[in-house]
Amino acid sequence: MGIQAFYVPIRDIETHRPLPGIEVGDIGPKFGFMVKDNGYCIFNKVRIPRRNMLMRYVNVDKEGQINLQGNPKVLYSVMMFTRLQLLTSSIFHLTKSLNTAIRYGIVRTQFKNFKDPTTGKLVERKLLDYQTHLHRICPLLAFKFAMVFGANHMYSSYHQMMSNIEQKQDFSMLGPMHTILSGLKGLWCNVAYEGVKTLRECCGAAGFSAYAAFGMSIDSLSAYVTLEGDSVVMYLQTARALLKGGRRVLTKDKPLNKMIEYIADLNVLMEQKGNFKCLAKSIDEFRNEKFILDLLKWNALIRIGKNIQLFADPKHKDISVWEKFNEKFQIDLIKMA
Ligand SMILES: Cc1cc2nc3c(=O)[nH]c(=O)nc-3n(C[C@H](O)[C@H](O)[C@H](O)COP(=O)(O)OP(=O)(O)OC[C@H]3O[C@@H](n4cnc5c(N)ncnc54)[C@H](O)[C@@H]3O)c2cc1C
Repeated sequence: MGIQAFYVPIRDIETHRPLPGIEVGDIGPKFGFMVKDNGYCIFNKVRIPRRNMLMRYVNVDKEGQINLQGNPKVLYSVMMFTRLQLLTSSIFHLTKSLNTAIRYGIVRTQFKNFKDPTTGKLVERKLLDYQTHLHRICPLLAFKFAMVFGANHMYSSYHQMMSNIEQKQDFSMLGPMHTILSGLKGLWCNVAYEGVKTLRECCGAAGFSAYAAFGMSIDSLSAYVTLEGDSVVMYLQTARALLKGGRRVLTKDKPLNKMIEYIADLNVLMEQKGNFKCLAKSIDEFRNEKFILDLLKWNALIRIGKNIQLFADPKHKDISVWEKFNEKFQIDLIKMA
């Protein structure tokens, strides 16, 4: 039945001391994320009234029988919403840091080797005119835009999912939302964390000044990659669902949910035995959104197909699925996710 939530009085209202059987404590200082004052609580033979259970989806009657109301998986939606908020917080920290680093790259100049196109005179070159500088900043800027559009899409999908659950008791979006959000949470928090450190370096010693405020973002993001699910564990959640989806396509089992129906084209990939040629005739085609989406889809399907083959390879028939998942192919799975 999983973990259930109960309302438990912890301290005596008069003395503010912990109630009998309850031990509370602080876990000690952390190096960041001070907004959250984490502590611990140990319960030893503590009894509480039955009505203290949060019984909207699961309840216990006076005889001790557990009754489900609807699908208890709906509780995952709370965790999903927190992960959604972490996506937007990652965007916030990355955007703020990009703003600082790009502005700095424009005002800070270095070496008189840039020919001013209007005067023809040699002037000091802006940091942003150095190739290595652009190489570090531009992919993060592009990623940030993708994150903004992606987050908007995920928020509206989340609200659609909740309205389906509340109005039609339709839980079908819950699984695919979990699959997608797990992977996004892992990837975006990591990209933002590594990205902000890079952007700090792009500002040299000025980036080290507390006024530049990179430290606050690095502190927060270093917590985000761990809390609400460590990135590696998140990727593995997504990987498990992708493998399952791919196998479902190949065994022609139940159809896939609309959100991940692109996996259905795995059949085409398998029929063509992975022999794909790029159909682009000019560089302009890479600017076409549909073409790019197609490329991303085939890239994902090739990785899903490879992992399915890896797991099914007769060479590994003596290895259990558990060992394959946890010991042998974790790196391949994470790359796929
Ligand atoms: C700042 C902060 C605030 C928090 N606040 C709360 C809170 O308010 N409430 C709450 O309940 N929790 C809270 N947490 C706990 C948080 O949810 C967990 O720390 C997080 O889910 C990771 O779990 P863990 O610490 O047990 O790490 P572990 O699971 O022990 O992970 C440690 C390392 O092992 C690796 N690892 C673990 N499992 C696997 C696997 N199967 N395969 C491969 N590698 C693996 C991970 O990648 C990671 O690098 C907080 C954490 C932080 C950092």
